[in-house]
Amino acid sequence: MLQARLDKASEDVVRKIIHVDCDCFYAAIEMRDDPSLANRPLAVGGSAERRGVIATCNYEARAYGVRSAMSSRHALKLCPDLLIVKPRFEVYRSVSREIHAIFRQFTDLIEPLSLDEAYLDVSDSPHFAGSATRIAQEIRRRVAQELHITVSAGVAPNKFLAKIASDWRKPNGLFVITPDQVDDFVAELPVNKLHGVGKVTADKLTRLGIRTCLDLRDWNKLALVREFGSFGERLWRLAHGIDEREVKVDSRRQSLSVEHTYDQDLPDLEACLEKLPALLEEMNGRLQRLDSSYRPDKPFVKVKFHDFTQTTLEQAGASRDLDSYRLLLSNAFARGDKPVRLLGVGVRLHDLRGRQEQLELFA
Ligand SMILES: [Mg+2]
Repeated sequence: MLQARLDKASEDVVRKIIHVDCDCFYAAIEMRDDPSLANRPLAVGGSAERRGVIATCNYEARAYGVRSAMSSRHALKLCPDLLIVKPRFEVYRSVSREIHAIFRQFTDLIEPLSLDEAYLDVSDSPHFAGSATRIAQEIRRRVAQELHITVSAGVAPNKFLAKIASDWRKPNGLFVITPDQVDDFVAELPVNKLHGVGKVTADKLTRLGIRTCLDLRDWNKLALVREFGSFGERLWRLAHGIDEREVKVDSRRQSLSVEHTYDQDLPDLEACLEKLPALLEEMNGRLQRLDSSYRPDKPFVKVKFHDFTQTTLEQAGASRDLDSYRLLLSNAFARGDKPVRLLGVGVRLHDLRGRQEQLELFA
């Protein structure tokens, strides 16, 4: 035990990780955009006639046992009243981008796991005096207020615990595991909650009489390696609350933008419109230097008002000329209609390398 503690002290890297996970993301967006879909069992997915599967369902549907990745036909058997709507991936992607824009106010170290889930490393964030808990609270508050969907968050010193924590108070919850709570929390954790433990490993652990991480701690590294190969060492580390995986930033760009904070607030729309040509010129220069694996897509503008409220507006199908940006800027300005401290112009980028998304399963 003493050796274990020494190992832990020397090897553990203490980080502040937040795992953010939207609650039934696609279904939440459908209910938000059409309130008549709320308060009834709802799923997003493919039709039963065409052998579709459920992508996401709301909590009313879950009460009937409906789950993601289940065939729609089976879901309808469990819940004959289930309404299955077709996915609108373009909308989900755009909401996801808006959520990431909120994340980026707190850190650039963001690792997306899917459209609705991401790890954030806020170890060096200057916000809220470095309190990851308060950052997570603020992210949850802002997503709810600005996007009208709820997210759950977990805060912990590493990725595997942050992910478990975000699930702990779901939906619409926050759970925090501080560094000095890690030991007790992990001890009680069932081993099948550990990152990388699938059905086969879980069955084998059960056969060995190992149910919780506390049971697992009775085993030394060597014995676990003998039973589980190289994963044995990982198991040992997880059972002691150690996970050194870094938050890996997705280096592929999703947009290109230029923004400027003005020394003196721009008092009205006209003053804002005057700044557009210079911003666009700079943006177009940067677009030309972009490598050919990206295709410019929708134009957008960002407006931050003098009171730090801000809004972003984009337009699918619009061209990237001055007139389009003038129109976008006029509409964005009208949302606040007050002096402006920062203007941004940009374009969403279409990644021609086509990151494989889990979504394609359902598309
Ligand atoms: Mg989710």
